[in-house]
Amino acid sequence: MHGTQSLLIDADDTLWENNIYFEQAFDEFVGFLDHSSLSPAQIRAVLDEIELANSRIHGYGSLNFGRNLQQCYARLAEREIRPEDLETVKGFALRILEQPLVLIEGVEETLADLSARHDLTLFTKGHPDEQRMKIDRSGLGRYFRHTAIVREKDRASYEALVQERGLDRARTWMIGNSPKSDINPALEAGLNAVFVPHARTWTLERTRLRRPGPGRLVAVERFSDLRELF
Ligand SMILES: [Mg+2]
Repeated sequence: MHGTQSLLIDADDTLWENNIYFEQAFDEFVGFLDHSSLSPAQIRAVLDEIELANSRIHGYGSLNFGRNLQQCYARLAEREIRPEDLETVKGFALRILEQPLVLIEGVEETLADLSARHDLTLFTKGHPDEQRMKIDRSGLGRYFRHTAIVREKDRASYEALVQERGLDRARTWMIGNSPKSDINPALEAGLNAVFVPHARTWTLERTRLRRPGPGRLVAVERFSDLRELF
């Protein structure tokens, strides 16, 4: 790679652990629901359906996840739906906000190295306050020249970012763990992309990688491999 590149970098499950806390909340929910016949995978499928519909209306984040869990409970519970039980269910999601922020191995050193040679933008989706809180707690903000928190990372949001920041598409790379939000829409917008897999990526983010544009697609094993790539 020659010269300075614009690196757009995802946050959740790329820089720090995130989905594991949602999975823990889901496990607690399954225990509390205590369904007589549905397996956790079957309950997950119902929740996925609710999350897919609600994310279009309300977006993402722990508060929305709490609402989704409550709807799932109301749909599946085999006992009377009591207000206090709905509160308990919401509590599983709210605890996500109190979880420690755990950086993924090698992230800080890699960002320190990359930021000395390239132009870094943090590009994340979710609830603005919640994402901002995680950025602050991570201490990683100083490596980024720019931060953008959007409602959805789709082709339109990549196009908007390219316009706003006057990015040269051929020298711009999206780096992240999600085929759905990081890789495919960036390629559709004519950017390059680096896929950094995470074993616990959210089910709704796991779609097939596509190659729809002129950009390059590179897959690495771990975040620290970026130091050799760039
Ligand atoms: Mg991510």
